[in-house]
Amino acid sequence: MVCEMCGRESESLVRVAIEGSVLEVCTACSRFGKVIGAPAGVAATSGGNGGSAAAVQERIGGHQKRMTERDLYTELPDLELDPQWSKKVREAREKLGLTQEQFGAKINEKASVVHKLESGGMVPPDALVRKLERTLKVRLTAPPQAPSA
Ligand SMILES: [Zn+2]
Repeated sequence: MVCEMCGRESESLVRVAIEGSVLEVCTACSRFGKVIGAPAGVAATSGGNGGSAAAVQERIGGHQKRMTERDLYTELPDLELDPQWSKKVREAREKLGLTQEQFGAKINEKASVVHKLESGGMVPPDALVRKLERTLKVRLTAPPQAPSA
């Protein structure tokens, strides 16, 4: 038996883990690593050693950056919207008996856009405001402030 560390003959070798690798070393050298096994002299190493079942850790997630509807309408509207505009959109849409999907199709917008509009999560650009007003036949812009006498 030869120690894999110091190369000296030894009667009994100890299996130790040293910096990631497993070595069979003499008792003197075993203190450099962590003892993990019985002396190699006893155990016959016939027929493969267990195999390395490395647990593959799948990375969950990844950055799926989806384009949101908001990105399509980055311009701030010039129109002054009625404070109740989102509510008006919903009420007018419901009056027409349209679902958000149906209404969205009518104005060439996704249902999610309609949903965002109605929940106030998105401020429509001028063009969309006009489109909503035309389609729903409601006024979404605030009336011009009358000069007070
Ligand atoms: Zn040694």
